[in-house]
Amino acid sequence: MATMKKDKLLLLSCCAPCSIGVIHDLYTQGVDFTVLFYNPNIRPESEYIRRRDENKRICDELGVPFMELAYDNDSWIQATRGFENEPERGKRCDICFLLRLRGAARFARENGFTRFSSVLGISRYKDFEQVCRAGQQAAEEENIPYDLTNWRKNGGEQRANDLARKHHLYRQNYCGCHPRSQE
Ligand code: SF4
Repeated sequence: MATMKKDKLLLLSCCAPCSIGVIHDLYTQGVDFTVLFYNPNIRPESEYIRRRDENKRICDELGVPFMELAYDNDSWIQATRGFENEPERGKRCDICFLLRLRGAARFARENGFTRFSSVLGISRYKDFEQVCRAGQQAAEEENIPYDLTNWRKNGGEQRANDLARKHHLYRQNYCGCHPRSQE
């Protein structure tokens, strides 16, 4: 009889304030999961490092595995060229979400995970459905399921905000890209 593969989730995170609530929930539920930081969209690099280190800090505190994929902002700029003036939630974000979720899906498939998900849609500034569409496309391309859980529901955003305050997390005031600086 074939043995079922043990559930193992890869969670793509954009920053500590967006992910802390989900990380705490998954940890409390005893889910086997790893946090992946793959955000070549963040500019400048010093900001990228600051967000990455803050995200790693909260994972280290709980003993949750934290992985990082290479920071390649040049490739991100190339992928989004021509869409610099799109508003947030527009076509540039479609490309940006897909690029990052594709990277996460590939990493998940190649490293023994059974599913992947992300916190990219947890903020009220984001279009959750837009993130889901990109996640599903990446899932189909890489042949690994995307978990569509809406982490914002059931007070998720408020819980994340409370935890972020409690842990004195650094909170940035922009998503990641600086469209005007590319002009
Ligand atoms: S606003 Fe955020 S999600 Fe949209 S393109 Fe910029 S970094 Fe990516």
